[in-house]
Amino acid sequence: MTTLSPTLELACELIRRASVTPLDEGCQQLMMERLAACGFNVEPMNIEDVDNFWARRGGEGPVLCFAGHTDVVPTGPLEAWQHAPFAAFVDDEGMLHGRGAADMKGSLAAMLVAVERFVADHPQHQGAIAFLITSDEEGPALHGTQAVVERLAARNERLDWCIVGEPSSTSLVGDMVKNGRRGSLNGHLRVRGVQGHVAYPHLAKNPIHLAAPALAELAGEHWDAGNAFFPPTSFQISNLNSGTGTTNVIPGELNCLFNFRFSTESTVEGLQQRVETILDKHGLQWQIDWSLSGLPFLTEPGALLDAVSASIRNVTGRETVASTTGGTSDGRFIATLGTQVVELGPVNATIHQVNERVLASDLDLLTEIYYQTLVRLLAN
Ligand SMILES: [Zn+2]
Repeated sequence: MTTLSPTLELACELIRRASVTPLDEGCQQLMMERLAACGFNVEPMNIEDVDNFWARRGGEGPVLCFAGHTDVVPTGPLEAWQHAPFAAFVDDEGMLHGRGAADMKGSLAAMLVAVERFVADHPQHQGAIAFLITSDEEGPALHGTQAVVERLAARNERLDWCIVGEPSSTSLVGDMVKNGRRGSLNGHLRVRGVQGHVAYPHLAKNPIHLAAPALAELAGEHWDAGNAFFPPTSFQISNLNSGTGTTNVIPGELNCLFNFRFSTESTVEGLQQRVETILDKHGLQWQIDWSLSGLPFLTEPGALLDAVSASIRNVTGRETVASTTGGTSDGRFIATLGTQVVELGPVNATIHQVNERVLASDLDLLTEIYYQTLVRLLAN
């Protein structure tokens, strides 16, 4: 029987609590007890059916916050799992198996153990350390980080730096961090025509014929060139529907769903205006329902990114790559407080899959990286 490292032991304890969104199953209670034991002021923030908490230790000065979620996505078919998803099994190759091993109970354990060690070594540290933990990141995310951030903003809570434990690494721990994310803007376009018989086109108006050149122009448009941190903004049509299903009727309407993934070189209003100008240019009778899923955010090189990169280099010998690729994350809500946000966590190769797993020794490296980042930013 080999003994587990403190991080691995805690990761296993968290995985054994089947906290499928929005359930928490006592994960946060466990974290709050350990944080309170090392001098944190712990504040549960339960909003509607979602458990969240905010914890803070320290006084004046810069605040380094660790953020993450205790909820996990559903397991999918149990028989497809090699090891039971909530058993937290470590195999002969040193892989920790279980739902949440990579996304993101492994990171939660690493953060907590790193902070416990740091506080023991530097009880009089500078500034403050904080935790912002939610149990609704994988679900609708309305009463999770977004709602907690609104409360923190309302009382002018200071948050200089934030490390989100999302699994940012691609094949080796620390090979990539996320220093921002693209924005996401959806549109539902309706183009009106006049329904009629295909044999009498002069009595009808075909919305497919009318919309096609405009859609081609939208698809070919160069929205921006991106910048050093973001690829160019992309426009994609995801759904296009028109027609009655018969061969002899000109349809009366066309429906189109599209999405922008946009860089910080474009704005929501700017993109909306340009789309509308193109539609008007083609003389269409149109209507669009817009919905914004997330604004882009960016953390430029500075104290946080420097500390994280130096710690990764020191622990793993790797030069990390700062990237803004991937979907949206809770980092976008935290960034609205003017906070520098970096996502740093384990390898994401198996997240949300059956047989989710992570190299157990990576969690110890991650603990060391978080610890050294704390030393670089807050040690006296
Ligand atoms: Zn996650």
